Amino acid sequence: KQTIVLFRRDLRLSDHPALTAAADRGAVIPVVLLDDAVTSLGGAAKMRLGLSLACFSADLEKRGMRVILRRGEAASLVHELIRESGADAVYWSRRYDPDGVATDTALKAGLSEIGVEARSYAGTLLFEPWTVETGAGGPFRVYSPFWKAVRGRVLPNVLPIPKLIAPDAWPASDALDDWHLSRDMQRGAEVVARHVSAGEAASVTRLDDFVVERIDAYKDARDFMDRDATSGLSDALSVGEISPLQCWAAGQRAMEEGKRGAEHFLKEVVWREFAWHLMWHFPTLDRENWRAGWDRFEWIEDEAHPHYLAWCQGRTGVALVDAAMRELYVTGKMHNRARMITASYLTKHLRSHWRLGLKWFQDCLVDWDAASNAMGWQWVAGSGPDAAPFFRIFNPDRQADQFDARQIYRRRWLADRYGAQDDHTDQFHAATPKSWHETMQQPVLKPIVGLKQGRDAALAAYGDVKSQ
Ligand code: FAD
Repeated sequence: KQTIVLFRRDLRLSDHPALTAAADRGAVIPVVLLDDAVTSLGGAAKMRLGLSLACFSADLEKRGMRVILRRGEAASLVHELIRESGADAVYWSRRYDPDGVATDTALKAGLSEIGVEARSYAGTLLFEPWTVETGAGGPFRVYSPFWKAVRGRVLPNVLPIPKLIAPDAWPASDALDDWHLSRDMQRGAEVVARHVSAGEAASVTRLDDFVVERIDAYKDARDFMDRDATSGLSDALSVGEISPLQCWAAGQRAMEEGKRGAEHFLKEVVWREFAWHLMWHFPTLDRENWRAGWDRFEWIEDEAHPHYLAWCQGRTGVALVDAAMRELYVTGKMHNRARMITASYLTKHLRSHWRLGLKWFQDCLVDWDAASNAMGWQWVAGSGPDAAPFFRIFNPDRQADQFDARQIYRRRWLADRYGAQDDHTDQFHAATPKSWHETMQQPVLKPIVGLKQGRDAALAAYGDVKSQ
């Protein structure tokens, strides 16, 4: 018996139910497809996937295995691979985004028509969306009751890496380099890659280090932008180098050992679950205002608007916002609090549509996650489920006083504006495209929209919507 295992955003060997099931029945052919789901990724996410894939391939080779890479449309590629290899089953981890669900449903139907066993498994979420229901039987729209509903659940044990058997003959494969997964990032790819530690082993080490060194203080320290106080696992989770169950199990153990921040860490891991719960039940979460009343709000949705461009380039003149936008550009990540503050400045002070911010993050984030990104943007904008009310407008200066009191974060990323030198700032200038260089010559020292002025205008626009 030979099973093709389709790997998507689950590039790991341990705690992989589909792979374990395939290994139990015989030889395994691991396959990754360069289909629409990959080509439509943002530049940084695609690059991150490429780094992960290189490690995944090396991990398989150490076990005498390979990963077969093919480019094209998913269903025809799978049928082609079945013909070439004689595989009699295809397994994969379930996806929860609308396109992924549609592709996999059609794939399953097509395979059953030709008598090939097609099976999907849980693997990327702890609580699949349809397994959590309110008392009345519908989806949750608010996080706290969702957390209460799941926190006591008994979950399966983390699966070890199964013993893998190679097929008699390997089907042909593309070379990973020919996929050019970093190409969309132009000059920034090398700089961003320096901030990524890819691969399953690196992710497990990062989780272990976090539990030993930082989880205890996590609850108190996680909001400080100048500290490395969080797990830093979001990009590993987004490509599936580590499973949420591995995070959950580590958090549970830490809780049993009396580590103070452990429960809070579990709660954050469950925010990701909640995001996917929402996305599965409301598949337009990344496109449409979840609260339809927000359709009347006069968002500015113009990608060429100078305010939006200034925000993308970290040139708003608001130090904390600009520092954070540079952090995003260089590392492919941004501190969670900084994500909320930059998103608030864009959607409230600049009144740009949250979809524009979502799109920029989608292109720049190495930890891009369709559901968490959409939920995060709609939460900040006020248009989403369980969202912060619109009138909760972050004041970046006050946030900076509280969470970057010694200006470490701002000085790191904006050294040029402080008349100093810092490697992080240099990296930003090294990563920016040529087209930005002319505008970059002039530092922006005054906010393009003042904090009070922007707040007052946003509240006035909100008042107009409310009174309609
Ligand atoms: P930790 O604090 O160590 O948390 C552990 C894990 O819990 C994270 O790795 C992540 O998987 C999950 N988590 C934590 N906070 C959240 C949250 N608010 N929502 C959902 N999951 C969470 N996260 C992404 O993974 N991808 C995104 O594309 C993304 N876009 C965002 C956009 C906006 C506007 C906002 C406000 C937040 C966004 N987040 C996103 C959530 C959050 O900022 C990141 O998950 C977090 O900064 C990752 O750092 P960490 O791994 O050190 O997190």
